[in-house]
Amino acid sequence: MGTIIIQNETTKDPISLIGREAGVCWGGDTQDPEKNRKRGLGCLESGHGRTWEYPQVYMVVDGYSARVIRELYTHIGGSPTRLQASTRYVNYQKGFAYVTPPKIAKNEEANAIYAKAMDDILKAMQELEQLELPKEDVSMLLPLGMESKVVLRTNLRNLVDMSHQRLCNRAYWEFRQLMHDMMRALSDYSEEWKYLVDNYFKAKCDVMGYCNEKASCGRYPKKEQ
Ligand SMILES: Cc1cc2nc3c(=O)[nH]c(=O)nc-3n(C[C@H](O)[C@H](O)[C@H](O)COP(=O)(O)OP(=O)(O)OC[C@H]3O[C@@H](n4cnc5c(N)ncnc54)[C@H](O)[C@@H]3O)c2cc1C
Repeated sequence: MGTIIIQNETTKDPISLIGREAGVCWGGDTQDPEKNRKRGLGCLESGHGRTWEYPQVYMVVDGYSARVIRELYTHIGGSPTRLQASTRYVNYQKGFAYVTPPKIAKNEEANAIYAKAMDDILKAMQELEQLELPKEDVSMLLPLGMESKVVLRTNLRNLVDMSHQRLCNRAYWEFRQLMHDMMRALSDYSEEWKYLVDNYFKAKCDVMGYCNEKASCGRYPKKEQ
């Protein structure tokens, strides 16, 4: 099971920060915390997207599959920066942790096949290592289901946009779970983040009022309906 750790470098008061920065440009009173908060809420309600890029988020994303991390990397709005656990230097020879999809985990026969495939990969890696091949070559065998760790720096706007795609019922199940885990961790980080998560982190159909996916889950009607 994956975990999200919100790091201390993350903006604690994202709404007030937006208000302070916007206040500078409007000649507003940026010394008054309540005015800053209200101005921040105004920028959010008006959809002034650039202001949403001031609140920064630093998080450790740990224990999710390399596959879901690959999908996380497609969200490039706001130029997020990321570092990922190395497969060249980390020693996987004693074994690697991996994610088992719930539908496989609850099927005894399927689970045994899945676990054996992972074990076979590990054995092959150990045999190649004995032939003194470099780690960076041997690790080519590592599966997409292996667990990985990433340090991610992004911003509020990127995460809100991500939620529109990844809370969709048609999105990959592990990313939906990752998105919910991020939302829970941010909500626990501060009251202002909780407000943002509760009011702005939504599936795209909840924002648009219709579904634009070709294969709809049926939660909302298609636009043409
Ligand atoms: C049901 C479902 C199925 C999917 N299937 C696949 C799949 O099979 N394969 C796959 O690879 N992905 C898939 N995805 C992921 C999806 O297609 C996107 O890759 C992912 O959502 C990240 O891209 P983005 O544009 O949404 O976000 P970002 O790249 O973070 O962009 C956010 C916003 O920023 C703006 N922006 C970003 N870059 C630019 C730019 N260069 N120029 C101008 N504006 C920019 C745009 O307004 C954009 O909407 C799927 C998603 C869903 C929900």
